[in-house]
Amino acid sequence: MSKVRRQLLIGHLLVLGAGALIGWVYGETATGLLVAALIALGWQLRQLLRFEAAIRSHSFGSLKYGDSVWSQMYSRFSYQRQRAREYRKNYRRLLKEVRKSTNAMPDGGIVLNQDFEIVLCNKAAQRLAGFRRKKDRGQRVDNILRDPAFGAYLKSGDFADGIEIGSPLTENGWLLCRIVPYGADQMLLLIQDITERRRLSAMRREFVANASHELRSPLTVVSGYLDTLVDDSEVPDAWRKPFEQMRLQTTRMNNIVAELLELSRLEGAGAAPTDEIVDVCGSLTAARKSMQGSDGSASVEVECATRAQLTGSTAEIKSLIDNLLSNALRYTPSDGSIVLSWRVDDDAARLSVSDTGIGIEEEHIPRLTERFFRVDPGRSREQGGVGLGLAIVKHILERHDANLVIESTPGHGSRFTCLFPLSRIAVAEPVSIADDS
Ligand code: ADP
Repeated sequence: MSKVRRQLLIGHLLVLGAGALIGWVYGETATGLLVAALIALGWQLRQLLRFEAAIRSHSFGSLKYGDSVWSQMYSRFSYQRQRAREYRKNYRRLLKEVRKSTNAMPDGGIVLNQDFEIVLCNKAAQRLAGFRRKKDRGQRVDNILRDPAFGAYLKSGDFADGIEIGSPLTENGWLLCRIVPYGADQMLLLIQDITERRRLSAMRREFVANASHELRSPLTVVSGYLDTLVDDSEVPDAWRKPFEQMRLQTTRMNNIVAELLELSRLEGAGAAPTDEIVDVCGSLTAARKSMQGSDGSASVEVECATRAQLTGSTAEIKSLIDNLLSNALRYTPSDGSIVLSWRVDDDAARLSVSDTGIGIEEEHIPRLTERFFRVDPGRSREQGGVGLGLAIVKHILERHDANLVIESTPGHGSRFTCLFPLSRIAVAEPVSIADDS
């Protein structure tokens, strides 16, 4: 038993004992006991009222000093209250700091609840997208950011990537919006001003397109003359080889220019059309027919598990297949084999080009779709490679909401799989696996 409890018990026993003793002396033990009990109760009541008054006036004065149970209670209560006050002060200070730092952020931050309603936002959100701190509280965020693409982004529930939308405030402004879920049901919408970034990338694109365009005309003239000279029987033999070389190099330059122009066009374009139907299986068969070379090239087979058609650009899907197949032919020895396949699974549609060629070391795989990246630049150049084919493939896939998955084992072969979302499938008629040779 603690000291305080013991004191309280002994104190009360003493009072009751004294009352009983005095009562016994006067022959009224019970009355003495009752009077003593009333005195003890009165004292406790008085302490209780003092305690209540002290709480009300927020002051315990000297009451908290002493050994009695009440003093102990006063002192404990006063200590807890002081601590709570300090906590509150610290919490307010912290809140002020958080508010100050979020307001100093150059990016907009908006806290949303699970129904995408605005809980609070910082100053940058007001500046970048016109959110009003008090008036918009409780509003759904897509009432403020009305771009349909943003609405679709919220609906999709897939917030792994952000979405670029036009600014609701300025005509040429662009914003990158990204939702970051946190806590139980809260979400943070981050808004970044990407107007400058987009302007610079448009400038770069335009520069590359203009430079390529300007190079085209002189190259056509030079190629024309070289074609004539190579075929001219009056040209001395000593000049024949240099002219052949020059023609080869101008053809290469023409290819580079054409591919750079194609890349600029793809980068500047939005999503691929959804009202054009692409017969993937037919395109694979046509590519096989037109590209399978002479006896010196690997065999090519087409495996269509479905006749499902895609919505998108026929020309671009053809260019994608041509790029992947020409790579496979270039990097697969003549006794190897290449399979072009098309199938629709539960999660995605898969167009893949597999070969039994030289394969690619794992460390190079993430860089393959970079412009001008080649594992072996000498070999690629020798075989007419420009280093832009897979960059073009990547952009075509992006325009079709699709991804490229590359699997490869050096010395054994590679598989390039294009994963199209099922939303891009126009007609899904499963047919038996067939080689359309
Ligand atoms: P390139 O015109 O050089 O083929 P790409 O962008 O099409 O340019 O390909 C980039 C690089 O990826 C190639 O240089 C080559 O090293 C590698 N690569 C592409 N496809 C294959 C393949 N099927 N097998 C092995 N390596 C490949």
